[in-house]
Amino acid sequence: MKITNIKTVVVNAEMRNWVFVKVETDQAGLYGWGEASLEWKTRAVVGCVEDFAPMLIGEEVDRIEHLYQKMYRQSFWRVGVIGMSAISGIEQALWDIRGKVLNQPVYKLLGGAVRSRVRMYTHLGGGDMRAVYETAGAQDAQLFVDRALEVVAKGYTAVKVLITPPTEALNSIADYKYAARVMEAMRLAVGDDVDIMIDCHGRHSVANAIEFCRVLAPYRPYFIEEPVPPENADLMAEVRRASPVPIATGERLVTRHQFRELFEKNACAVIQPDLCHCGGLWEAKKIAAMAEVYAMGVAPHNPLGPVANGAALHFALSTPNFLIQEDMLTDVPWRWEVVQHALTTKDGYWLPTEAPGLGIEVNETAAARHPFKQEVIHATTVRAQDGAVLDW
Ligand SMILES: [Mg+2]
Repeated sequence: MKITNIKTVVVNAEMRNWVFVKVETDQAGLYGWGEASLEWKTRAVVGCVEDFAPMLIGEEVDRIEHLYQKMYRQSFWRVGVIGMSAISGIEQALWDIRGKVLNQPVYKLLGGAVRSRVRMYTHLGGGDMRAVYETAGAQDAQLFVDRALEVVAKGYTAVKVLITPPTEALNSIADYKYAARVMEAMRLAVGDDVDIMIDCHGRHSVANAIEFCRVLAPYRPYFIEEPVPPENADLMAEVRRASPVPIATGERLVTRHQFRELFEKNACAVIQPDLCHCGGLWEAKKIAAMAEVYAMGVAPHNPLGPVANGAALHFALSTPNFLIQEDMLTDVPWRWEVVQHALTTKDGYWLPTEAPGLGIEVNETAAARHPFKQEVIHATTVRAQDGAVLDW
């Protein structure tokens, strides 16, 4: 069975454009879906999928490792996150086809289930909300408390928040007090049975990051994520050594090669590959296996579209050191209308499916109602007091 065509379907979901990848075969009605969404680089990823198509058309569809090698190595240039997102979407679609051919869910082709359900968390957002609170009357923690309680009421046992402000190389005491105040209020509201993760978006210097870890530690965050920029594993390792809170990172790294330094430097407790960027399901399994040697957990990043959820379910079910999965709740109300799927959730967990492949199909007619639009680029509003650009 050979690949005959590869195309993308782009769906604008306001915060981001979802890039769904469809791989078609010479067997009538047999095709697979994957997801390659990458914020603010949608057109580049779509172009990359088009660039890869001539390498793949006419190839045997079941040679997934071979086709990955072809895309990765025969590109000559290491393709970075844009190209690896394209590869990831294509690779997921190949697994979807394989599962449909064998009439098996993909997790059964990736080693089979090692757990009976998949724990989820959702991101409550955040950023630098202090200006909003100052205007509203200094009730700064209430917004996060309300969001957390809403999610917990849906059955979730874990949430993530962005409460450390964008900063320069050194912070003021007010920044630390703000983060501690919000964290304390959330902990009091949700109790000890709900885990709270802190996302930092790589905003901080080592000195800032260590101080945030210390002031938040009494409220026992589950982990602190990307406390320093992700491209420097030495800095991450330095924070890990000094932090009383476990460190997580990896959402912006792709392939085993970029994760390698984290392992060699024992730079974190938890890795967070994104299955739509890191190279796909099989590459994520390899990265997770490397992490297993270092007793690190795996908490895959996933704020993307519904096909990404499908891929994430099969990875989580079949990966022994999987810890917890990010799930998106707050993008668009019609999220599940652009797909048909066999995914079910119960009490904050995803349940296994027996549907063949990834268990998710894009409804191209429904998808066409939400064509590509330029996303808002939030980062343009994040500035230091003096106007300098900061990580957001
Ligand atoms: Mg993050």
